Amino acid sequence: MAEHFDIIIIGGGPAGLTAATYARRAGKSVLLLEKEGFGGQIASSPKVENFPGFAAISGAELADKLYAQADALGAQIELEEVLSVEAGTPHTVVTDYNSYTCTALILATGMKHRSLGLEKEDTLAGVSYCAVCDGAFYTGRDTAVCGGGNTALQDALFLADLCRHVTLIHRRSEFRGDPILVEALKKRSNVTMVLDTVVDALLGDNVLTGLQLRNTVTGETSTLAVDGLFEAVGQQPEGKLAAALSVADDGGFIPAAEDCLTGKAGVFAAGDCRTKEVRQLTTACADGAVAALAACTYCNANS
Ligand code: NAP
Repeated sequence: MAEHFDIIIIGGGPAGLTAATYARRAGKSVLLLEKEGFGGQIASSPKVENFPGFAAISGAELADKLYAQADALGAQIELEEVLSVEAGTPHTVVTDYNSYTCTALILATGMKHRSLGLEKEDTLAGVSYCAVCDGAFYTGRDTAVCGGGNTALQDALFLADLCRHVTLIHRRSEFRGDPILVEALKKRSNVTMVLDTVVDALLGDNVLTGLQLRNTVTGETSTLAVDGLFEAVGQQPEGKLAAALSVADDGGFIPAAEDCLTGKAGVFAAGDCRTKEVRQLTTACADGAVAALAACTYCNANS
């Protein structure tokens, strides 16, 4: 027979681990399932300087602390990939090793930044997906931002305050993001906009030294020397399970409000997989707390 838990949390990032901590402190039996590694996106960040209480901490160390806290409180934490979920009374969760049931289910499956798919993208130092997280490392240096949405525009503005020069590279002649941000960028003397242009290659052996660019209209190629590239070409939720539960929107995000309630009884959404404006460590943790407490209330009413 499948082992039963009050609450199963899918996803071992900051939202999921915080949810586990809160649910255990409320006395619920908790299983947290993670398929890859704990800490989510933050685990790969070299330095976190915006998590309250820590002036500076590596993402890996912070992930370890979040894990250790949930573990010490008695959450069962397993490295198993969830293959399928079925909502019901109880919900059923099938992993690559086991089958479980639970009264309440928290989806904290996070999201991935879309990448450009270039060679050396994952290995070169100097390629980042988060200006707020990593921008300070490029203070006084030259950076580029690739993308034409609000994230790219905001990243370029953020970096313009720190960097010597910022080049915003967009594949079309018009930005997808808000005109007010475009206008704000035009006023910055240290920002150059390079339109109708794509990044064809990353230059450098271990550390990024520049970009090979191609104008999509003229076909002309050029080289741009930069210390950092911030890719802001959209995001992809890990939406497979949410879609299976019919709680995802067309983009794969879960349209739950600040209360973390999905349209499905006993199913809650926490962290970056939820539709929201601000995707930061702190807001993921906040979601974890809110979703866990809502799940506890649900368990109390339905056990
Ligand atoms: P987005 O709006 O989907 O923009 C992605 C950008 O990347 C687009 O300009 C796209 O170009 C470009 N792109 C995609 N694939 C590319 C590729 N392979 N090579 C080069 N360029 C590529 O994503 P986002 O900026 O992350 O924003 C996501 C959502 O959050 C949006 O709804 C946005 O408005 C919202 N957001 C809001 C705020 C705010 O302050 N309100 C801040 C940030 C984000 P094309 O334009 O040619 O498709």
